[in-house]
Amino acid sequence: MKHVIQLSGGLGSFGAALRVAEKHGTGDMTLLIADTKAEDEDLWRFADDISRLLDVPLTKVADGRNPWELFRDKRFLGNDRITPCTKYLKQIPCRKWMKVNAPVGDSIVYIGIEKTKRDRARIPAIARNWKPWRVQFPLCNRWEPELSKEDSKARLMDLARWYGIEPPRLYALGYEHNNCAGLCVRAGQKQWKLTLDTQPERFAYAEAQEQEIRDLLGKPVAMLRQIRAGVSHPLPLSELRRQHEAASTA
Ligand code: SF4
Repeated sequence: MKHVIQLSGGLGSFGAALRVAEKHGTGDMTLLIADTKAEDEDLWRFADDISRLLDVPLTKVADGRNPWELFRDKRFLGNDRITPCTKYLKQIPCRKWMKVNAPVGDSIVYIGIEKTKRDRARIPAIARNWKPWRVQFPLCNRWEPELSKEDSKARLMDLARWYGIEPPRLYALGYEHNNCAGLCVRAGQKQWKLTLDTQPERFAYAEAQEQEIRDLLGKPVAMLRQIRAGVSHPLPLSELRRQHEAASTA
């Protein structure tokens, strides 16, 4: 049986890989990771540390584009409801690899969903997306209690340090996930404000990319939305910056 860990570079997939290694060993393990060409450098340090710990090489797949290049090609800006970047930069490259290397009847895919209320709600959709492969969620064993996101993260950070691995730096900056360097199009206003405060150069980069797509499409699209007078409006990052800076100096 092939055990394919869908390694995201986050703590959850690290925990899942450890559980699978404890149960099945690492002889038939694959650490499959999709490179979105937009990850924080420290994600690759963390992934390499996991690879060294388990003595399993990383199997990297990539579409070759980053999310902004994809949005320009598709003439569509991803947002918190629709994320073509997930489909084209992660799911399709991983499934292509699976089709060639992981026969359906002899392979199991493992996803590092944590046992928190919000994350567990994603399980049915994830399992559907991976069909026809069997999918397991090693951190969601039925006999373990449900955790808050903070407790789950703290446990996994402790576990990483126990194995001598420093958790990805984005968590220390206050991010919930270690993906796309904190510039995930699904993130809400809170995370974008965190990015403005902790990674201003990256915020400026995303702001410029978003504006480029607005210019390309000739439409006032935005990743974020804001309710004003009961009506939902696009909220470009430039406007979020203005509002956040105004609030900080008020
Ligand atoms: S982490 Fe966010 S920005 Fe990156 S590919 Fe996934 S949905 Fe898109």
